[in-house]
Amino acid sequence: MSVVTTQIPQDLHIHTTFSQWDSAVVPQQTPELIARVRHAKILGVSDHFEHFADRFDAYKAEMEKWGLHAGTEVDGSDYVDDAASMDFEYYIYHCRDRREEYQAIERLLDTGKPVIIPHPMVLDTDLNKVPRECYVEINNRYVWRDDWLEKIGPFTGDFRFLIGSDAHQPIWLNQNVARYVATELNIEETILFDR
Ligand SMILES: [Zn+2]
Ligand SMILES: [Zn+2]
Repeated sequence: MSVVTTQIPQDLHIHTTFSQWDSAVVPQQTPELIARVRHAKILGVSDHFEHFADRFDAYKAEMEKWGLHAGTEVDGSDYVDDAASMDFEYYIYHCRDRREEYQAIERLLDTGKPVIIPHPMVLDTDLNKVPRECYVEINNRYVWRDDWLEKIGPFTGDFRFLIGSDAHQPIWLNQNVARYVATELNIEETILFDR
């Protein structure tokens, strides 16, 4: 059984070996390891959609086996229709600063599943153009690389926020920097699932 005594409330941005072409993912980062380390009370895996779309059933089965919520990270509008047609519990959507990329958000929202906008500064996402039904993520891997006070500060009253590790390796399974940023911004994170 787990020996971790302090768990963070929720982490829905975790990569595993299903992100097979992501060079940052180490072979030890399996769904089983995520489930066994259990660094968060609520755990969701969000592997890159285009890396495992042809193995969707295996992905779903593996997440179910280990009690992990099955999300996916969608790399722009080209993949939205395929991703929306499959039964994910939530979507993390790479929204680059182009009109068709903002438009495609609506097709993900139409699924009725939560849509999370990760690391907006990395992709130059203009949050003014993002529907307010989306959740914005404070991302532990990237948020500290930009001026988060200036870029996210003006939107703290407009969106609901999630905190994510974006972990690709076991030692990344934490949210320390993202939680520091969220505290400084007076953000109360939204918990998406009951357990
Ligand atoms: Zn990403
Ligand atoms: Zn990611």
